[in-house]
Amino acid sequence: KSTGNGTLTAFRSEMDAQYIDEQKLRVDLRQAIENRGLHVVYQPMYRPDGSGIECSEALVRWRHPERGMVGPNVFIPMAEDMGLVSHITHLVLDQACRDCATWPEPMAVSVNLSIQDLRNDDIVGYVADVLKRYSVDPSRLHLEVTESCFMDEPVAVSAILNQFRVTGVTIAIDDFGTGFSSLSYLDSLPLDVVKIDRAFIRNIVEDQRKLKLLRGIVHLSRELGLKIVVEGVETKEQLALVNRHRFSDLVQGYVFSMPVASEKIIELAAEGASAAKLSAVRRGAKS
Ligand code: C2E
Ligand code: MG
Ligand code: MG
Ligand code: MG
Repeated sequence: KSTGNGTLTAFRSEMDAQYIDEQKLRVDLRQAIENRGLHVVYQPMYRPDGSGIECSEALVRWRHPERGMVGPNVFIPMAEDMGLVSHITHLVLDQACRDCATWPEPMAVSVNLSIQDLRNDDIVGYVADVLKRYSVDPSRLHLEVTESCFMDEPVAVSAILNQFRVTGVTIAIDDFGTGFSSLSYLDSLPLDVVKIDRAFIRNIVEDQRKLKLLRGIVHLSRELGLKIVVEGVETKEQLALVNRHRFSDLVQGYVFSMPVASEKIIELAAEGASAAKLSAVRRGAKS
């Protein structure tokens, strides 16, 4: 209050500028969706011994003509707000299945769903169509949902996920451990895979409490028969630790690979992990 009128005006016009900027971005996003201005990259999930890739996650990208890359953490919430996110989901599903058909079998592709995709069961038919279109076996498609997807209508969403599972599609819960009442979801929802959020991996080497938390989640998930993917493994030390404790069935993170183009996935699959990373894995297993 004590700051003069001038400050307030400056603050206002800054807010206005930000608002206008966001409105412009929204217009551009709508156009990008209509004109195929988005593309998809893939981040591999490796077997923990680094010997190969079982699945790769499709991650949508937007290269803005003036601003450069805009991250999905910015434009996905925007698309959700505009009611357009299902168009993005369709586009990503289509590209992901088309690309997966070129990968060595039985390597799978994993696609992120938004809460809005699960508001009605049209998505089930869309997925069936797209699998048929590219002759991809349903066992090669994973769908990732977050805890927030269950907040609104847990029963309806469970029913949709069950329909997917009946057709042979795998369901993963993404960013696990960042939402609320996480543990009860593990048991009550039709899930196959738990992707443990990278917040649990950060500081894992230094922080004993994080390690204990992770151990608890892993133990519980295994007891419930779920497969575990640890996300966001960045360093060899983290990888060694994850392996020493046998925390993960699959590892996804910069330590193995950044998100890459589909063709690169085929190359990486042929290579396996580099020798340096493999030795870090072995060190972890020994000590
Ligand atoms: P997510 O589904 O949890 O995807 C993993 C994110 O972590 C990706 O960010 C990936 O690049 C990043 N990441 C992977 N390994 C590491 C690591 O070792 N360290 C760090 N710091 N980060 C790592 P990205 O591509 O920016 O995507 C962010 C989020 O945007 C995704 O989180 C997902 O929630 C959403 N998203 C991305 N693509 C799609 C999509 O096609 N549809 C929907 N609905 N959401 C998407
Ligand atoms: Mg994901
Ligand atoms: Mg995640
Ligand atoms: Mg996320």
